[in-house]
Amino acid sequence: MRQKIVAGNWKMNKTYQEGIDLAIEIDKLVAEKGNKNVTVVVSPPFTHIAEVNKVVNNDRISVAGQNCATETSGAYTGEISAEMLWSAGADYVILGHSERRSYYGETNELLKAKIRKALEFNLTPIYCVGEVLEEREANKHFDVIKEQLETVLFDLDKEDFEKVVIAYEPVWAIGTGKTASAAQAQEIHKFIRDLLAKKFGGLAQNTSILYGGSCKPSNAKELFANPDVDGGLIGGAALTAEDFLGIINGF
Ligand code: PEP
Repeated sequence: MRQKIVAGNWKMNKTYQEGIDLAIEIDKLVAEKGNKNVTVVVSPPFTHIAEVNKVVNNDRISVAGQNCATETSGAYTGEISAEMLWSAGADYVILGHSERRSYYGETNELLKAKIRKALEFNLTPIYCVGEVLEEREANKHFDVIKEQLETVLFDLDKEDFEKVVIAYEPVWAIGTGKTASAAQAQEIHKFIRDLLAKKFGGLAQNTSILYGGSCKPSNAKELFANPDVDGGLIGGAALTAEDFLGIINGF
């Protein structure tokens, strides 16, 4: 079901207590002043997930993991399984973030396996796609995004495809302070939806496609006003409850 979603990716930030305090503050602000039409997701480090899930009201705020393993369980030191995330209270998992792709060599093939494992254990994948600056400058961004979508999602059955959320994150805009313009975001979001429609027909109208890349309270409104932008995946501004609320209320 297409929803308005604002998801905060905390990355490798916040000690345990800082994270719990932030979750409590976000929960309070969302309860008091948050737009009720927006699904709010927070994605803390793995160590914080179970407690964050306890301190927020789950009718208002869902919890996500930032990654999961391709395997179900076993001798994979340092990995976190989809089932573990689910059992700690997560409903979502971010997969394919550009930092995972570039620092940890995650490929489209690997992400295909992760998405399937997440779906098997009832997690909603937030699947990130997006081009690096050189690809945009060489006018290759459409091809890059097409491949990221086709390789990873196109052999899902319709029932599973319906559960996937997509985040378009131009890598040149992540953590750089440079934001895609509202027109650039809409252009790519429409491209993504049209591509999905070629494969999955009318179901593409139900897909939530989020924008990510230096989204802030000051630009959220303009970005979210686009017909194919269904919300945001937020990095830096998700670490401050007031800023995160400002983005949620960009709708
Ligand atoms: C992200 O890392 O997903 C992200 C969008 O980061 P930022 O908002 O800091 O650009």
